[in-house]
Amino acid sequence: MASIFTKIINGEIPCYKIAEDDNFFAFLDINPNAKGHTLCIPKKEVDKIMDLDEETYMGLMAFSRKVGLAIEAAIDCNRVGMSVIGLEVPHVHVHLIPLTEMKDATFQNKVTLDKEQFEATAAAIRAQL
Ligand code: AMP
Repeated sequence: MASIFTKIINGEIPCYKIAEDDNFFAFLDINPNAKGHTLCIPKKEVDKIMDLDEETYMGLMAFSRKVGLAIEAAIDCNRVGMSVIGLEVPHVHVHLIPLTEMKDATFQNKVTLDKEQFEATAAAIRAQL
């Protein structure tokens, strides 16, 4: 069965899209640690990051860096942190999280955004790409 993230790539489930190329896709995390928290995923559906072939792994890092630089330009933060967990969704995803303090990196500190705030955040990041 297709992962929830494959359904997002295919447009079957909505998302706040940030970027897409032939092999990768980026969108806002729906339950963000901080405003601008973004997920970068390979279109190829693989569960664990260490199981990616090297080309896809390196491509995902390059794509994530591009998106991370745009987040850093768009969102007021100290820096953008990168994290890979994957315990919830079995489709590789890189978390890019605007960090101001350590608690932003803990996944226990969540912020609530409404639809307009998600849309404005996604538009601000896209404008920096
Ligand atoms: P993990 O697998 O533990 O790295 O976490 C999965 C992440 O995916 C969590 O931060 C969720 O908030 C996020 N997530 C789950 N479903 C969606 C969705 N439909 N749209 C955006 N983000 C999602």
